[in-house]
Amino acid sequence: MLGQMMHKPLLISSLIDHAERYHGDTTIYSVETTGGLEETNWGQVAVNSRKLASALSKLGLGNFARCGTLAWNNRRHLEIYYGVSGAGFVCHTINPRLFPEQLVYIANHAEDRVLFFDKTFVPLAKLVMAQAEGMQHLIYMGPRDEDVAAQLPGVLFYDEFIETGDADYEWPTFDENSASSLCYTSGTTGHPKGVLYSHRSTVLHAFASNTLDCVGYAAADVVMPVVPMFHVNAWGSPYGCAMSGARLALPGPGLDGESLVKLIDKCGVTLAMGVPTIWLGLLGYAKKSGSKLASLNRTVIGGAACPPSMIDTFREEFGVETIHAWGMTEMSPLGSSNRPLAKHGSLPVEQQHKLRENQGRPPFGVDLKIVDDEGNELPMDGTAQGDLLVQGHWVLDSYFRMEDEGVLHDGWFDTGDVGTLDPNGYLTIKDRSKDIIKSGGEWISSVELENIAVAHPKLANAAVIGVAHPKWDERPLLVAVKAEGAEPSEEELLAFFDGKIAKWQVPDKVVFVEALPLNATGKVLKRKLREEFGEILMPA
Ligand code: AMP
Repeated sequence: MLGQMMHKPLLISSLIDHAERYHGDTTIYSVETTGGLEETNWGQVAVNSRKLASALSKLGLGNFARCGTLAWNNRRHLEIYYGVSGAGFVCHTINPRLFPEQLVYIANHAEDRVLFFDKTFVPLAKLVMAQAEGMQHLIYMGPRDEDVAAQLPGVLFYDEFIETGDADYEWPTFDENSASSLCYTSGTTGHPKGVLYSHRSTVLHAFASNTLDCVGYAAADVVMPVVPMFHVNAWGSPYGCAMSGARLALPGPGLDGESLVKLIDKCGVTLAMGVPTIWLGLLGYAKKSGSKLASLNRTVIGGAACPPSMIDTFREEFGVETIHAWGMTEMSPLGSSNRPLAKHGSLPVEQQHKLRENQGRPPFGVDLKIVDDEGNELPMDGTAQGDLLVQGHWVLDSYFRMEDEGVLHDGWFDTGDVGTLDPNGYLTIKDRSKDIIKSGGEWISSVELENIAVAHPKLANAAVIGVAHPKWDERPLLVAVKAEGAEPSEEELLAFFDGKIAKWQVPDKVVFVEALPLNATGKVLKRKLREEFGEILMPA
């Protein structure tokens, strides 16, 4: 017998309709690229996104035309998220930190027809316009600007463009499995690969992110997504917040500690989301300025392993709870997040804190398993370590325009991460499989060593890589960035590992660098470090 309930397609436009109808006057703060803090609300974002959808529809772009963005987190970008996808086009968020050749490659590969861009990215827009064959319309995200007009003949101005659209535009209805948005992974080798999200996957991801133990955006929250809207849709926060009615504080281009602390204090941010490197700057400035981050009550930290020392600092010095989360572009991105179980409440407090350090459990809708080299499932015992495979409603099936190259193994996607799962499914990421250090047949987790090193007060940052060794094949090397004004010695840094891990896992050597090389999404480029230091322990 068939169930007899309504069927309504899960469309992104329904999120903004909901936001307009039930929390239309809820504030959205937006730091503008050209300076200043703007205030708008969900209702106005809904109106502008309909105007944009209507104006775009008049351009005759064709179904599912890709519309690229080169933009910071701001309210126009939010309107573009809804206007483009809602109208049945595909919102292609481009990471401006990619190398110019990669950027041109993905604009061509995606066959972008329209490019929206912020003032910062005028030079990149020029480049893309000159080299991306199918690009038809450039739209500057702001009011008319003669300087931009002079540099880019034929450019349209967002604020004028949307006025050619109709505020009463009605969202079209279509199959919920239709493509809604596109994001390329910043692969460290080869070309970036596109992950094409659907309306359905996006809405289901928004539901899951809104469960209390995942992120749980509340209507009373002021959410500051520091994670860029050009990197996995700011972890889905623009959708999750429309669903719950949270306020947003969009930080624009100011991602340094000072700008973020000031924004938190000014807008009363309660929930902030981003990668660990961002919080290093923020914590540094908060301590220096004396800000207590009074309004902030939780941070969601992911994208790279969050060092336990950072969780401790947030908790002990600022009274902020950290939700450590793990995910990837191919997973929209949420795969797991760390909140406690009821039984953890009766454990000694130190143990409770320890349990909050790992990457947490999957929300309903994602399944995780670990397997050995032959693909056999390993036990969830907290110690067996294997390749992490995932399945779920918002997990990639195949890369964009690479449908023939199957990437699944029996319906599971291989994340490229290595980890353990405990009996309740709490995930501990040990490494990317290509970064794990294999010393004399034993594995050493670079993440564990980094977590210890970054807690050293004389270090600003650190990475650990495996380097060639004549006897052990590979040994760990600590690549360290000194804290401002500090002069740590190699001996004291290595001694810092004593008692924290097995002796044979302690790095063999320390090298000091001015800064760590980062990729376009702010992750340490270990390949670069291996190229530079890979032979350092080998006889000359
Ligand atoms: P991206 O697709 O660029 O977001 O990168 C996804 C990758 O980042 C994952 O496969 C992990 O290797 C890494 N990653 C994300 N979150 C975490 C985390 N909380 N701890 C450790 N690694 C993480």
